[in-house]
Amino acid sequence: MASKKRSSKHSGASLDQHHREGKTLIPPYARLPGKIELSSWRDDRLPEMVWATLICAQNKRDSYLSIFRELADSAHDNQDIKCDGMGHSRFATLTDVQFDKLFDPILSSKDRLFQLSPLLLLKNLPDRDHWLRHLPILEEEETAWQLLGKGIAENLWHQSQAATDIRWLRVICLIASGKMHFAETMREHLREVMEYPTYGDMRKVRPSIRAAEMAFVVPEDGPTSGWPIAFWQECLNSTKCHPAPFRKPKAIKIERMADEAFKLYDAVSNHFYDSLKTTDIDPRMDGVFGMCLYAITLHITLLSSGSHRRLQGRFFIRTIVEIYVTFAFLLKNDTETFWKRYRVHGNGQAKLAFLKLVDLSDSEVPSYVRPDELEQLANEDRWQEFLEIDLGNWAKSDLRKMSEEAGVKPVYDKFYGWPSGYVHGHWGAVRDTVFDLCLNPLHRYHRVPAPPRLDMGSVAPDSVKLINLILDQLSQAYPPFKARLRIKEPDTVTEAAPTSEK
Ligand SMILES: [Zn+2]
Repeated sequence: MASKKRSSKHSGASLDQHHREGKTLIPPYARLPGKIELSSWRDDRLPEMVWATLICAQNKRDSYLSIFRELADSAHDNQDIKCDGMGHSRFATLTDVQFDKLFDPILSSKDRLFQLSPLLLLKNLPDRDHWLRHLPILEEEETAWQLLGKGIAENLWHQSQAATDIRWLRVICLIASGKMHFAETMREHLREVMEYPTYGDMRKVRPSIRAAEMAFVVPEDGPTSGWPIAFWQECLNSTKCHPAPFRKPKAIKIERMADEAFKLYDAVSNHFYDSLKTTDIDPRMDGVFGMCLYAITLHITLLSSGSHRRLQGRFFIRTIVEIYVTFAFLLKNDTETFWKRYRVHGNGQAKLAFLKLVDLSDSEVPSYVRPDELEQLANEDRWQEFLEIDLGNWAKSDLRKMSEEAGVKPVYDKFYGWPSGYVHGHWGAVRDTVFDLCLNPLHRYHRVPAPPRLDMGSVAPDSVKLINLILDQLSQAYPPFKARLRIKEPDTVTEAAPTSEK
């Protein structure tokens, strides 16, 4: 059965919907006219609603929605208070009388007041004085921080049920206090909001509530208020990071795959001898078999020492794709000129590297290279004094264009871009490799150093696919060659990895 396409789950703009300007792809929202001030629910508006998150965290949904309704009624009865958005910064501007009137549904219940007592942990809370007048003294600080964390955790995702409910509270209080109006034609929509969550199709009502809440952001709730920054700072100063515990990776056996890869290497080597017609330089034959054996060597290497699940596995995949595309391009332009150009360019690179090292003393030469071997390589086909050095790409193109010309761009698109980020140390790869999320919700799941990643998704199945594609090309260049890698996945075993895998 064919698996569902990823696009069926992706709700954002597709690549085709982006607008290209030079080398930049601009998403549709970023092209809307005018300057858009972005206010983040998590960063800016959620800290204004800490009191509501505590109510959500300690009551069943029916109960807290009914408390929210009582507060909306109170906002309606006290329209003169003009309490925009029901946030802490706004409450700070109310007089004692106004605050007490608005919050009567809470202040008149000992249980509800007790539930809000963790607010006293927050020394910079803008409306702290109001709460100090009413809340019971905090006795169990540790428990109170946990409650605060629970409330925030349920609301960090701006579309979670709790977050949608609190955002609904903000909307109905705006309506109740006369700050938000609906046109006569929107009567049905108003009913959906007022009778939330029992009337209408929730798949449409919930997003429309969130959109309304976002549209009516008041300045006190935006980044201009100092409270959101102070809140997150206080949480960081007062609570510790909870890095994810180190997970020992499950052992994955690759012996069968490695055995098969070694046998394949032998088979390709034997095919070389079977195809050998001359001892003269043959750039095509050397190129074809050289690239195949190089790719299989990478495959064997990535299967050893767990590399297929580590950072270097991505490096290997990228190089194997590069070999595949280069090979495909050469088969498309299957002339002596191209095969020679590929080879001469490589020799030129050896010469260039050698000439850059000649003036260095033995101790200055990098450990990975032996200059005399490099010189030999540079001179192998032709005395280097006659060898040109080409500083550009050997095909006067780039890999993407070569993949297009060779008709293998889908493979390039699938396997080349993301692994390249790991080779170049781009941020996405850095983020993925060395950072983990701190599990303390009061730190809004920020990034903290992770233990060394030894359990990345295995690149071995991808490598198998690519090697088989390269073997198809070998068979096309020097037919017939039938051997293919058949083992597609490493064997997962349940026992723990050996200690050397730590
Ligand atoms: Zn943290």
